[in-house]
Amino acid sequence: KKRVFSGIQPTGNIHLGNYLGAIRNWVGAQDQYDNIFCIVDLHAITLPINAKELHQNTRKLAALYLACGLDTRYCNLFVQSHVHEHAEMSWIMNCYTPMGWLNRMTQFKTKADENPESVNTGLYCYPVLMACDILLYQTHYVPVGDDQRQHVEITRDIAQRFNSLYKKRVFTLPEAQIRDTGARIMSLENPSKKMSKSDPNPASRINLLDEPKVIKQKIARATTDSLRLVAFDPERPGITNLLTIYQMLTGQPEQEIEAEFAGKGYGDFKAALTDRLVATLEPIQRRYNEYINDMVSLEGILKQGADRVRPQATATLNRVKEVIGLG
Ligand code: ATP
Ligand code: MG
Repeated sequence: KKRVFSGIQPTGNIHLGNYLGAIRNWVGAQDQYDNIFCIVDLHAITLPINAKELHQNTRKLAALYLACGLDTRYCNLFVQSHVHEHAEMSWIMNCYTPMGWLNRMTQFKTKADENPESVNTGLYCYPVLMACDILLYQTHYVPVGDDQRQHVEITRDIAQRFNSLYKKRVFTLPEAQIRDTGARIMSLENPSKKMSKSDPNPASRINLLDEPKVIKQKIARATTDSLRLVAFDPERPGITNLLTIYQMLTGQPEQEIEAEFAGKGYGDFKAALTDRLVATLEPIQRRYNEYINDMVSLEGILKQGADRVRPQATATLNRVKEVIGLG
């Protein structure tokens, strides 16, 4: 089976964008691949984060992975910092990554602009650490949202440059897996920005753990326009984003959805969308509560995941060191 690797940062509340752009696709294809899904806590410290919150978010994210349907029969779930090879390899690959490549990364620019008082070297080198996450496991496919396309490309560039420098096939070249629909769910408040955990406005996103009444309020407040026409239209990103979410939850084609709401207003559509969201998230929330209330089993799953993936990480790191002449 081909190897899949992906991860999410334990930086805050996991939202609909993370679910539709990433987790749901991982779950859907898990039996086809040899899967590794990581909780990337070393990435989470690239911006200031409270210690207790980081520790709790890590466990919460693990419980959510399971609640969304990731199955340990098909997937190894682990915490990035539990496999120290990621950090070690990251230093090495920093030394093989031209600064010019990192200067072009749009996520760094966005996050640095949003957090001008706390830009550190780790945020800048984030793509190198992410490349190491992927390359350590000789990954074939990286299922991610559209915002991570550039980071998977630089991963390939780093791998290719290293392989050709030493004339050895040390790294497998990974490919991004990005779906046509749902790869970029937009903010409910400002549909020109993507939905993000780190957006300071909680009304900008639907969290997977939001209660029905919160979902209802957020959808009611979601930005649309004054046209009052329920139709997909790239010129009208607000309503189109909500329609895309609806489409992903119902599986209906665009025309069918437009026909369903022909002659109806945004209120009717938003009510239907709210119902779908509540129905989708309710079983996830129920299972989440079971997992999060059994911390002993959860810690066991994470430990087992790390133990299972570590040998591959060690093997790749050792090979890299040998090729370079370290050790
Ligand atoms: P942060 O603001 O902390 O960066 P984030 O919401 O961007 O949080 P990440 O942990 O960076 O979440 O990304 C986890 C996964 O979710 C990645 O595969 C990413 O591409 C995907 N993803 C994030 N936001 C969206 C979105 N709005 N639509 C679709 N996929 C998304
Ligand atoms: Mg992100």
